Amino acid sequence: MNLTRLHPTAEAPGQAPTAGPHQPVSSLLAGPGVPQRAQRGRGLRARNWRAEALLRMFENVLEIGENPDELIVYASLGKAARDWTQARAIAHALLGLEEQQTLVLASGAAVGVLETGGSAPLVLSAVNNTVGRWASPERFYERAAAGQTIWGGLTAGAWQYIGRQGVLAGTYELFGTIARVHFGAAPGGEAEALDGRWVLTSGLGGMGSSQPISARMLRLSSLTVEADPAKAERLRLAGGLDRVTDDLDAALATVLDAEAPVAVGLVGNAADVYPEIARRGIVPDIVTDQTAAHDARFGYLPSGYRLDAWRRARDERPERVERDARASMARQVEAMLELAAAGAVVFENGNNLRVQAIEHLSPDAEDRVNTIPGFMEAYLRPLFARGIGPFRWVCLSGEDADQRVLDELAVRLFPNRPEIARWIGLARTNVPPQGLPARSCWLGHGERSAFAVAANDLVADGTLAAPVLFSRDHLDAASMTHPRIGTEGMRDGSDGSTDFPLLDGLLLAATGADLVALHSGGGGYSGWMQSAGVSIVADGRPETAVRLRRCLDADSGLGVLRHAVAGYPEAADSVAAGGETGRSPLTWLSSVKGSGR
Ligand code: NAD
Repeated sequence: MNLTRLHPTAEAPGQAPTAGPHQPVSSLLAGPGVPQRAQRGRGLRARNWRAEALLRMFENVLEIGENPDELIVYASLGKAARDWTQARAIAHALLGLEEQQTLVLASGAAVGVLETGGSAPLVLSAVNNTVGRWASPERFYERAAAGQTIWGGLTAGAWQYIGRQGVLAGTYELFGTIARVHFGAAPGGEAEALDGRWVLTSGLGGMGSSQPISARMLRLSSLTVEADPAKAERLRLAGGLDRVTDDLDAALATVLDAEAPVAVGLVGNAADVYPEIARRGIVPDIVTDQTAAHDARFGYLPSGYRLDAWRRARDERPERVERDARASMARQVEAMLELAAAGAVVFENGNNLRVQAIEHLSPDAEDRVNTIPGFMEAYLRPLFARGIGPFRWVCLSGEDADQRVLDELAVRLFPNRPEIARWIGLARTNVPPQGLPARSCWLGHGERSAFAVAANDLVADGTLAAPVLFSRDHLDAASMTHPRIGTEGMRDGSDGSTDFPLLDGLLLAATGADLVALHSGGGGYSGWMQSAGVSIVADGRPETAVRLRRCLDADSGLGVLRHAVAGYPEAADSVAAGGETGRSPLTWLSSVKGSGR
């Protein structure tokens, strides 16, 4: 067998292969310190479209990431590669990769290239997977500081991040479900039910900045607290906020007196603002939070700290910072409980905020704090049970015309689910573009593969200018275990079992995905999660259509089966129906103990 040794240090920035006299083939070869940009157009730099697509995605996550010079994409510390030496080594490997080869990555570093065969994944990546007894934040920080591991986020290290839109569709689904569950909306009438209401939330980072936009799509006003004025201003300039202020009175007046939905960014600390709003007896309709609370050291500004002092203190006295951050989170959570008691709909939005508060308050507070539900258990699980989740596609041409063709395809293909056309219509006018044109769209079992195969035909006949990459968030029906986020309160008690994400990764490799990534939590998420990510490219070849169908059906199908086994009737119905399209049959061996009906 031919094993290829990668020479990560062989290419210093100045020696990068060049496209022209002064132009490196990829911005990855020139960075850090230069703007990162994904290649557009029909031209190939790699030896085939599958590798070219993955290289463009790697470039793209840094083009739109939070701190590309440090390879940080989102979620506080979520990185695209171990360090710049490794980033260059990976880019070089992708440029030279043949279709019969697989590039193997371990925690963001290039390990080697193996001969695996034409339908094997081009990239297999494992990030920070650690035995349970050693999966602590302290060990993670030590190893990360020594350059031995990274937190890959969900989509950062797997190069599947598409900016705030990645979570925007989910937050839109979430607010829509809340409108139906709590405010009496009929399907399709969510915006009417939310008009005149407002949400209090916080965090305008990589993911959090989606919140005001998804609220606006449903005519819900928002007041979002953000500690960093630059983040708030960035979103205002992108059109996602109508107004930014550091004055709580002015922010409240704008939201409470608004005659039409309004999105206000309030520069401040959530740990101070929430208690003050509760003290004044002002009750928002909905309350949540999307600061990077999962990471007490790097993700949540403690009350009383200035941003610059916090950044220094994280290195100088990390234990103190963590203690102060958790104390502040506990204050914020106490205020959320008060607001819930006063009638607000309060939930946690996937950031471990309750866990952090309980750690400060003591285990006695657990039951009280956990009266705040997690968003997945409370609202979105019935969709996951049908394999409906955060599917996404990326136009590798970089052309808006391709984006339009695919949007229209989604509207046309699924007339039985009018909510899909509704979402696409809203997304086209409300989502500020970031990087390569991309769309997140909550499609279900059978719909994803049908869409991807149809898109493959459009690549083949030249309607689309270049291939399209399909992916999804790792937080999907089969692919994520996190007992306080995706799998909280599973009916069969399987909240902490990582069997399904691991099976998912194996199935994705077996069915011919182009990239499969298995991630474990890092930073504050150490020990909390396991996930699987997938990317697959529609390059127009007939054999690709076969892989697209197998791979995407296996992925969403396993999600349905997981929920069927756990006792969710929506999943059993999906099995009986052959998925959302009726054309993706599944075999459920329902005699397995703990199965649904
Ligand atoms: P990020 O690190 O890019 O941004 C966090 C933001 O919070 C920053 O802008 C920061 O300034 C702000 N902030 C920190 N402390 C604050 C405080 N005390 N008051 C006000 N603002 C404060 O992180 P992100 O990518 O936006 O992710 C945020 C969280 O959402 C993470 O915990 C992530 O894991 C989680 N997440 C949830 C979902 C989901 O599906 N619900 C999806 C992705 C990410």
